[in-house]
Amino acid sequence: MHGLMQHQPLLIANLIEHAARHHSDGEIVSRRVEGDIHRYTYKQQAERARQLAQALDQEGLELGQRVATIAWNGYRHMELYFGVSGSGRVLHTINPRLHPEQIAWIINHAEDAIVCFDLTFVPLVQAVHAHCPAVKKWVLMTDAAHVPADTGIAGLENYEDWIAGHPIRYDWPALDENTASSMCYTSGTTGHPKAALYSHRSTVLHSYGIITPDVMSLSASDAILPVVPMFHVNAWGTPYAAAATGCKVVFPGPAMDGKSLYELIEAESVTMAAGVPTIWQMLLGHVQPNNLRFSTLNRTVIGGSACPPAMIDAFEKQLGVQVLHAWGMTEMSPLGTLGRLKNKHLKLSEAERFKLLQKQGRAVFGVDMKIVDSNGEELPWDGKTPGDLLVRGPWILAKYFKMEDSDPLVYDAQGRGWFPTGDVATIDPDGFMQITDRSKDVIKSGGEWISSIDVENIAMGHPAVAMAACIGMPHPKWDERPILVVALKPGEDVSKEQLLAFYEGKLAKWQIPDDVVFVDAIPLGATGKMLKTRIRELLQGYRLPTA
Ligand code: ADP
Repeated sequence: MHGLMQHQPLLIANLIEHAARHHSDGEIVSRRVEGDIHRYTYKQQAERARQLAQALDQEGLELGQRVATIAWNGYRHMELYFGVSGSGRVLHTINPRLHPEQIAWIINHAEDAIVCFDLTFVPLVQAVHAHCPAVKKWVLMTDAAHVPADTGIAGLENYEDWIAGHPIRYDWPALDENTASSMCYTSGTTGHPKAALYSHRSTVLHSYGIITPDVMSLSASDAILPVVPMFHVNAWGTPYAAAATGCKVVFPGPAMDGKSLYELIEAESVTMAAGVPTIWQMLLGHVQPNNLRFSTLNRTVIGGSACPPAMIDAFEKQLGVQVLHAWGMTEMSPLGTLGRLKNKHLKLSEAERFKLLQKQGRAVFGVDMKIVDSNGEELPWDGKTPGDLLVRGPWILAKYFKMEDSDPLVYDAQGRGWFPTGDVATIDPDGFMQITDRSKDVIKSGGEWISSIDVENIAMGHPAVAMAACIGMPHPKWDERPILVVALKPGEDVSKEQLLAFYEGKLAKWQIPDDVVFVDAIPLGATGKMLKTRIRELLQGYRLPTA
């Protein structure tokens, strides 16, 4: 027997229509590439998204065709989120920090029909457009007055002229909720990048997930600042969730230095901000030495790589901003877990609570997870035993785009498919998961595993350290031994012996690195994460003093 409730497909266009109707004057504020601050409302955004949808219709774009963006976080980008997906096309967000050759490869692999890009990226598009013959239109996300002369890009049009003249009313197509809506390529540190292809259904369900109180706790009374880029797993889904709640949205545009972010947070009374640790490092680097305080910011979502305890400490204890440490990945839309305390934890001492908050947190409803050994046997949730982390759920990838013949999932006895995350983690009896490593970064010393994240976190707590990476080096007796690669803060000086002494009492003796290598800067990947492959290249020829 079926239930007798209305069947309404979960569609992305419904999000913006909800916002336009119930939060028509809800504000969207953007720092623009053009240099000024732009503000308008959800009502205006919906109107322009509908105009955009008709511009795509006029181009003759079929359902499912890809429209790419190379753009910062801003209102036009958000219009593309709704106009492209809502009209049945697939939004392909491209990370502009990738190498131009890689960008051309991605555009061709995705078969993008139209590419929309910010003014910043004119030189990038000049470098790649000739290598992307299938793109029929390049759209510069600005108005006629800002289009530079003689770009040499054939078929270039400006966004404002492109959507102008179309009616502000539009009947969104009644799509099947499983229709593809957007796609995102993983950074692909080895081999070619692979794409996760999201659906309307997965996107809307994910929006419900991140709004909940144990995740971002988003509501119409919030003003959110997504610093995490809209080209990085859809800014963790925040634009969709924002429309669902009607919260005010503040976009940083290209200005992601500490001073610009701080000023925007204060000027626009931001209550929640989301970003990766490297960005917050820059924000703290401005706030702390200048003795600044936040007047409205009450929480910040930090994820994408492990949030160092020193950062949690600075936000929570010095600045009164709650840290929501989140874990996820491109293949998971991206939300997997978030660290919010349970009722019973409120009785814990501050130190015990602090320890829990360093973990990556509990699974949100919609994500199931488990850890397994090398034979696929499930491991206990004792908070100590590390294993390979597997996940399943309605917003988790089943197959990669254009790789439908290969199956990345691992099946259990009931025939249920689990996605192997490539992360190594422990899970405690309360369901708090803690990432100890990427499986390829784990350090195996004398048969025991050393968590590179633990080693890095402690180094990051040293006042002289700007960034630290822990790498396993081959060792004749122990298989591998950890070394610490360190970039110091400007003007700081600390010796190898002092740094290693800093570990005493914080780690078991055998887990303490054997050596310290000082570098000017730790190489970062396109999404701001440490690039361990590059670090290993830099260390070519290095030999462990203990080997
Ligand atoms: P990439 O393309 O670099 O893999 P993702 O955003 O998909 O980009 O990266 C996902 C990976 O990032 C995870 O599998 C995990 O290794 C790491 N990661 C994400 N969030 C955290 C976190 N809070 N703590 C530790 N690692 C994290």
